[in-house]
Amino acid sequence: MVTVYGPVIDNQTRCKHYKTQKDIIAIKFKCCHKYYPCYRCHEECEDHPISVWGKDEFDKLAILCGVCKTEHTINQYLNTDQCLNCRSAFNEGCQKHYHLYFDYAAVCKRS
Ligand SMILES: [Zn+2]
Ligand SMILES: [Zn+2]
Ligand SMILES: [Zn+2]
Repeated sequence: MVTVYGPVIDNQTRCKHYKTQKDIIAIKFKCCHKYYPCYRCHEECEDHPISVWGKDEFDKLAILCGVCKTEHTINQYLNTDQCLNCRSAFNEGCQKHYHLYFDYAAVCKRS
């Protein structure tokens, strides 16, 4: 069972910052290898800055579907808008925050 840290408010990894229907993923942070629902949770609970995943690490399991608890690689996550296992829709608004989690230049080059 994967542990999700931070102020999680339900059993689908919604947190006090992001809690719409689609906010169902948690992200493993490269810096501490802990799953948090969002960067603000990380900021509140950790005293170090976020380090982002580099493009040679996009095959790492770092995205957790909060509904079925399936882990996805960063590549899988960047190429889908839903969980590959349970088909729950992921929040497309998260794209605005990719640079906080992943090497942003590498993500842009993909599209
Ligand atoms: Zn960290
Ligand atoms: Zn949060
Ligand atoms: Zn799922």
